[in-house]
Amino acid sequence: MIKKLAYTPCEREAEFLAGIEDPKHKREIINGLSPFFKERAPEDMLSFYSDDEVTKLRVLKGGERDVEARMPVKITRHYFELAKKSPAIQRIVKASPDETQDLAGSEDPGYQMDYSPVEGLLHKYEMGLMYVVNTCSAHCRFCYREELIARKDVLRQDGTVAKKGLAEIPEITEYIRRHNDAVAQNGGIHPEGGREKLREILLSGGDPMVLNNAKLGAWLAALAECGIESIRIGTKEMAFYPQRFDDAFLAMLDRFHETYPEVGLHMMIHFEHPDEFLQKDDDGNYIENAQGFKLWVPETGKAMRNLVSRGWLTVENQTPIIKGINDDPDALRIMQREIKRAGAENHYFFCGRDIVAYRAFNVPIETAWNILNESQKGLSGVETHARLSITHYKGKTEVNAVTNKPIPGLAGSENGVVIFKILRNAGPAPDRGKVCIVGRNPNALWFDDYEDRVLFDEAGLFDYSRVKKPGAAPVGSSAQQ
Ligand code: SF4
Repeated sequence: MIKKLAYTPCEREAEFLAGIEDPKHKREIINGLSPFFKERAPEDMLSFYSDDEVTKLRVLKGGERDVEARMPVKITRHYFELAKKSPAIQRIVKASPDETQDLAGSEDPGYQMDYSPVEGLLHKYEMGLMYVVNTCSAHCRFCYREELIARKDVLRQDGTVAKKGLAEIPEITEYIRRHNDAVAQNGGIHPEGGREKLREILLSGGDPMVLNNAKLGAWLAALAECGIESIRIGTKEMAFYPQRFDDAFLAMLDRFHETYPEVGLHMMIHFEHPDEFLQKDDDGNYIENAQGFKLWVPETGKAMRNLVSRGWLTVENQTPIIKGINDDPDALRIMQREIKRAGAENHYFFCGRDIVAYRAFNVPIETAWNILNESQKGLSGVETHARLSITHYKGKTEVNAVTNKPIPGLAGSENGVVIFKILRNAGPAPDRGKVCIVGRNPNALWFDDYEDRVLFDEAGLFDYSRVKKPGAAPVGSSAQQ
């Protein structure tokens, strides 16, 4: 049995933690399909699934196509109220038999576990990502952490099979200190990985905002004490339950900033569609005031104002473009405009990853690029900061351009080309800026759909072997990895 490390907060940490308050929250969560199958959900929520939908989902229960086994079902009261007027929101959280028709895809997209030196931590890039919790207030059907949330077994590179575990403060802070000591003693570069100081951490999961303030504060303080300079909190709580951003939470953030003013904080929010934060009338139109400004849902507008008014933190939105939800330039145009108007930043749009059942959710790569490009027509420069990213096994990659015309003299470009550019890759990002050009394939959902039309690949996206570690099982060589 592995002995657990102990962790004792220092005096400064203990003082910060002692002042944290944790009022109770009433998310009114409906968990699973059972409350709908057994008609035990609140009466007004039962109609979220029609009788026909319930029958079709019930038939799949317990079999290979059980939608809940792939991804647990969950919704809050707040999100349900928004969903009543929004087909897009319904599609985000409402289970459908279609999602398990084709279960092709990866249980560990991008083989993230290859870069997990400590349970719950991914240290692939210059920054670290941590799984601090394995659920959210509601669950998106397209989630690319479905293996974590559904507690699935994942094959690791050494051939063992295990569920993804969560990060624990003692083990993580020990790793960060050891890594950063080795970096300091080696002139600023780690002697093995080639990376610099680990100075940035993304708290992720699941959604860290389902943790209480005490637990969240404990993470923030522990990371600050071991030298982390910048902390991001990845959350969709602003959409699912904006009431979570209440006075007690804001007071915790304020006290954290007073205690650790040198640490940067970033709220990485996740709005998928403007229906998640704008008020709609009974006809489904966005409500505007006399001056033509669109009105935000009051709780969401308040949460956003309270965050952006704290100049020492940033609020940044990132969202995948998903079939039937936001594959709509008009919706994305409104979303980018409103997010910037609220004082937040449009950070990234993503193409869907190769998760299990990805064909049910992913928009073709070229279509996603066109949708984003169309959506940004009519936006100002400050509203169009977001880029389109797709996460190759090698690292975060931008879908940089899609042409409609051939490149003269370049065989294979007759239908136009797609240009990918590496934004980050493992270690100190040695391939950042390198590009890959492929002939177009309008149906391509993932890199392997371009394998037969690679024209130029200095990025090495199609000539990639998974890094083999000592004692690891044999690995193949494919862009799909
Ligand atoms: S909020 Fe994020 S982590 Fe949670 S279910 Fe949705 S996509 Fe997955």
